[in-house]
Amino acid sequence: MLADRRVKIVATVGPASNSREVLQKLIESGVNVFRLNFSHGTHEDHLKVLQIIRTLSQEMHAPVTVLQDLQGPKIRIGKLKSPVELKEGDEVILNPDITDADKLKLPVDYKNLPDFCKPGMKVLLDDGLIEMVIQQVKGRDIYCRVIFGGELKERKGVNVPGAHFDIPCLTEKDLKDLEFGIKNQVDYIALSFVRHENDIIQLRKILEKNNADIRICSKIEMLEALDRLEQIVSKSDAVMVARGDLAVEVGQTQLPQIQKHLIDLCNRMAKPVITATQMLESMTKNPRPTRAEVTDIANAVLDGSDALMLSAESASGKYPVIAVKTMHEVISEVEKSIQNYYQMNLDLEFLSVAEGIAASACVTALKLNAKAIVCLTTSGKTARMISAYRPKSMLIAATHKPDVLNKLEIIWGLQTIVLNPYNTSDEVLEQIEKILLSFDLVEQGDIIVLTLGVPVADRGTTNSLRVYTIRGQSKSQENHIMPLRFREGKS
Ligand code: PGA
Ligand code: MN
Repeated sequence: MLADRRVKIVATVGPASNSREVLQKLIESGVNVFRLNFSHGTHEDHLKVLQIIRTLSQEMHAPVTVLQDLQGPKIRIGKLKSPVELKEGDEVILNPDITDADKLKLPVDYKNLPDFCKPGMKVLLDDGLIEMVIQQVKGRDIYCRVIFGGELKERKGVNVPGAHFDIPCLTEKDLKDLEFGIKNQVDYIALSFVRHENDIIQLRKILEKNNADIRICSKIEMLEALDRLEQIVSKSDAVMVARGDLAVEVGQTQLPQIQKHLIDLCNRMAKPVITATQMLESMTKNPRPTRAEVTDIANAVLDGSDALMLSAESASGKYPVIAVKTMHEVISEVEKSIQNYYQMNLDLEFLSVAEGIAASACVTALKLNAKAIVCLTTSGKTARMISAYRPKSMLIAATHKPDVLNKLEIIWGLQTIVLNPYNTSDEVLEQIEKILLSFDLVEQGDIIVLTLGVPVADRGTTNSLRVYTIRGQSKSQENHIMPLRFREGKS
């Protein structure tokens, strides 16, 4: 079953996957989250995709998270007449004012770049393929020497690791894109190039002002962010280890440790964390992954990721559906190992009642060998905390608010069911038992652990734990529409 896989799959939508037909296949193959990448495409394109996803999700009874990824303040090389061949030892001048580029004088699209450049700093072009070192800054001219050369095309990215730029985290383009996201009710916004928790606070304010129920995923991809990781993670609703830009910023040899450290931090703070970029890069061209890629996926699962992301593999590659299936298979295999479960850390301080209940639910489920932990929820908060403990029992969020389901799909191990309105906890239990039995997820005598806010009629925050033994008998498939995740995935 697709639901047996705990680590979720994020697929970036692009020309290779933006048709209804391919999107449907991707969901059937196990995609939980679609990323709409606002570094590319028009609002019209994105709207079309979003509408198809929402319709498919309804039709297929498969909640899907939509993650709108803002481009952020990416500095780029300006317009070039033609690609430039840079060779080791070449002297190049970068200057934001140049209109007439030539081989040795290249335009950049960030006006204040010279103010933040110092001799000795590295300048990396095109995802770090080309490396230069700054020799001197004279007026608006930044003199660089090429260390590793290559062909440079226009509009390629520029990274200056360690520089503290004064560009706002939300550019004018981002603000317009954000309006789109708010209007069309995406589930998460991914904030690119986060440097400081204030970047998240600023976005949160805009969302609140617009009454938007949208969560924030911080992309960790700058050297500067590493100094404030705890503060950034604590202000975020989710985090992405954005390995593409991160590797350019910190140097590739640092990447594995940072990935592990960041995932661990997110696990401890119960924030969903996505590991991203080049997980199956070779599958943009080939229908089979490399050994290194299979191992990378396995390691990201063992590190504790909530979700793994496909970028070009699903957006523009030749085999988007096979890439998702491959990811699903590798994750599912790794998850057979017990190492993935029960990362319980009871040394954590419990700052809220809900945290106390979440930990207790996990211990109880473990010791009683419960079949499922069911969280009665309106926001998914308790479910998220329980997920962070990586329980072996099935983890289900049950809610009478279907809107929230799409937002939970990104969380490790979490499956969701919709309840009818209820007034007492007995009514809730009756409904849950009936649904679980009808899906054949439990049988008579199985124990389930329920977390809830009592009295349930108040829809209050979680304050109670209930252990329940299933009394009824399975009446398979009786008048419940089974969600896709609980059904055998088509392959
Ligand atoms: P991007 O982010 O694909 O939007 O650049 C991910 C990364 O940098 O790894
Ligand atoms: Mn990036």
